[in-house]
Amino acid sequence: MSARLTILAVVTVAGVLAGGCRRGARPVSRTWPVMGTFCSVSVPAADADALHRVATTARATVSNLNALLTVYSADSEISQINDAAGRHAVPVDPLTRRSLELCLHYAELTGGAFDPTVGAVVRLWGFNTGRPPEHPPTADAIRDVLAGVGYRRLKLTADGAFLDDARADLDLGGIAKGLAVDTCYEAITAEGRRDLMVNLGGNIRCGGQACPGRTWSVGVRNPFDRGEILGALSLTGGDAVATSGNYERFVTIGGRRYAHIIDPRTGRPVEGMAGVTVISTNAVEADALSTALYVMGLDEATTLLARLPGCEALLVPDDEPLTLHVTRGFRERFDPVNDMAQRLVALKLRGDNASARFEEENAKNGPGGNVSAAEGG
Ligand code: AMP
Ligand code: MG
Repeated sequence: MSARLTILAVVTVAGVLAGGCRRGARPVSRTWPVMGTFCSVSVPAADADALHRVATTARATVSNLNALLTVYSADSEISQINDAAGRHAVPVDPLTRRSLELCLHYAELTGGAFDPTVGAVVRLWGFNTGRPPEHPPTADAIRDVLAGVGYRRLKLTADGAFLDDARADLDLGGIAKGLAVDTCYEAITAEGRRDLMVNLGGNIRCGGQACPGRTWSVGVRNPFDRGEILGALSLTGGDAVATSGNYERFVTIGGRRYAHIIDPRTGRPVEGMAGVTVISTNAVEADALSTALYVMGLDEATTLLARLPGCEALLVPDDEPLTLHVTRGFRERFDPVNDMAQRLVALKLRGDNASARFEEENAKNGPGGNVSAAEGG
């Protein structure tokens, strides 16, 4: 586990502890490494006796989901579906099936900006392999892997899942942590706990109070200065928040940094966005949409958000000067630090259909249609 990830977890937890609870009444947490990051569960100090039980439930739930969905193990159901691509369907656990249904739902909703079949592109750029290539992939190489990308290649059968093209490759990295947080949160509340927070690598869901009279407080990291936060969000009532950022996971190729989120239209890592934070009523939606809005960019994100009244967002372009584009509901729950209040810009939501435009563009360009700008290697 890298030092980078350790700092990430500590900063997030520090954000929680600074939520206005008196010393001695601050929430208590358990943290452990999983899914390439850290998971923590927190309960109010008054419930400290229950922490062991809560953490046991959380650990078991996250491990179970990870074993089904990870692409880092050849045995996971997702890896088995990838192995059988173009050949046959693979029977899947109800949880895997639910995960794939949700992937298809968010792929449709975002016109393919969220696409769970980007696996081969993710690997081509060296994300997930630990060994980035020496040169950026060539336009031809990108075109080849893009031929396998397209969420409609994923078919759910009566008892299984099937990729109808041998080149297609699933990667649920854009949604798996949110799913794990929801599954965990639901398992713990089913055991009768109301006041709790689950945080899996910045995918967070909170219920009840952190201490008497205080909701949970979560820091939103400054994408330009990882040690700093832009402000704090106040969350309760089972609400969730997720952040997709260019600083979270990246590769350096030829001295240039590439973030781990892929534009499925071009087969290239997205540029132009530094961070996107989404608040929703559940963690899976926050996770899927933070990834999708990151891909869509400010304009398309704004039009999609207009159709999603339950979702609030903060978008930070990778640009100077630093500006924080926020929906009204996000602003209402956000307490900016220092001079960040002066950097807030209200997102003007329109009624026009962003995902339809995304889809149209996709159809016009075809797979790999935009790759001409890719650097040769
Ligand atoms: P997140 O940190 O939730 O935004 O997820 C990023 C991860 O999702 C990446 O590391 C990839 O595994 C995967 N991913 C990358 N691009 C996309 C995309 N356009 N749609 C869905 N998943 C993606
Ligand atoms: Mg995500």
